[in-house]
Amino acid sequence: MAALKTKPRALLLFPPVYDFAAFDMFLRPFALLRLAAWLEGGGYEATLVNALDPRDGTTAAVLGFPKRYPDGTGKFFRRIVAKPAALASVPRHYARYGILRESIEEKIRAARPDVVLVGTGMTYWYPGAKEAVECARAAAPGAPVIAGGIYATLCPAHAAAALEADRVVAGPALPALAAVLGELGLPVPPGPLPDRPALIAAGYPGAAAVRLHAGCPLACDYCASSLVSGGFVPGRGEALFGFVRDVHEAFGLDHFAFYDDALLCAPAAGVIPFLEAVIESGLELRFHVPNGMHVAFVTEEIARLMKRAGVRDFKLGFESAAESFHAAHDGKHTPEQFARAIDALRAGGYKPDELAVYILAGLPGQLPGEVEESIRFAAGLGIQAHLAEYSPIPGTALWEQSAAASPFPIAEEPLTQNNTIFPLRSARFTPRRLQELKQLARRLTRSLR
Ligand code: SF4
Repeated sequence: MAALKTKPRALLLFPPVYDFAAFDMFLRPFALLRLAAWLEGGGYEATLVNALDPRDGTTAAVLGFPKRYPDGTGKFFRRIVAKPAALASVPRHYARYGILRESIEEKIRAARPDVVLVGTGMTYWYPGAKEAVECARAAAPGAPVIAGGIYATLCPAHAAAALEADRVVAGPALPALAAVLGELGLPVPPGPLPDRPALIAAGYPGAAAVRLHAGCPLACDYCASSLVSGGFVPGRGEALFGFVRDVHEAFGLDHFAFYDDALLCAPAAGVIPFLEAVIESGLELRFHVPNGMHVAFVTEEIARLMKRAGVRDFKLGFESAAESFHAAHDGKHTPEQFARAIDALRAGGYKPDELAVYILAGLPGQLPGEVEESIRFAAGLGIQAHLAEYSPIPGTALWEQSAAASPFPIAEEPLTQNNTIFPLRSARFTPRRLQELKQLARRLTRSLR
């Protein structure tokens, strides 16, 4: 390792994505920005390289700028690439999304890091993380490379073998990352991870990710929230509003996406004071909630505040109209709670066609008829239905059953955990039937407008 300067330099690297399709629905390096804040607090100079930044001039000179929208969503830079052998039979293009490899390496070289931290996302995106490690090796030889994040947590043995990083940190970043830095002879910042992510421009293209609470108090058998985030840790609404205001002032951003798994939980110190502070500020901000919102915690008071504060784009985590589904998998809500939530949102000022639900499709043993009934149930209420295709996730309660039922080698090859290939397909629930259900949901949703 190169000799340390007065201020050690840490580089946080958000990798490119390899997948059949990718659209930027507020994909931001939120966890890396929190790590950057922790490192800065410990005396490091922190730099972020965001390989998914759609504003990169070097890449645009070759590929052109991707189409983006005013709310901060849009396309990524994209190049079609050869499919990995494990996905060779899938009749779709496979692509690399993100800035050019040369541009990643140029930015790493310019940062001259003493240590590189690579974040990982979806398990089936590991080729992007592997490429990020290779870029760090090429552009910063001698700097140790540490990988952490979701894939590293869910598939630690696979990540250790596949990524060829110097260290893989599984689970919450602390205390494991602190121990690794110490072992490598690097300074160890004190204290817990700060809730406020660092304000590094590369992490804020067009919209910002924010989070009020960490984790989720529920334990749905198909979800990895507790594995990735640990338990539920409530946050404070006033503190989050201070961060939102700072991001708005620093980068002129008006659009914010909540990364919460349980935004509406613990509302008295959480979402209620946050929304009140937004309303009181008079700022014209827009809030998006890409993860499903808890049906059972919607109240009329919260709905009114959401509407007035600019929460425009959210979906309820409905999952299924079948009570047997909830009894078996999540216990998330009862039919009475769902009806109450819809009434509350309407009383709060949302029109029916502004309301949307996620419906989960493709769980082991699930039959298409149940999914169709759920789509029709939502449409009957005048609500948009969005199919969320199940991805089997290692370590979840439903994992063993999924691995046994899947015709793909999902336990050995994370690429086959990709929900695009419908990993739990069967003779009773075929890919064709799934397509028909997606079309049905789209058609019924269109007819609401
Ligand atoms: S409620 Fe949502 S975030 Fe919480 S465990 Fe269930 S699926 Fe996961």
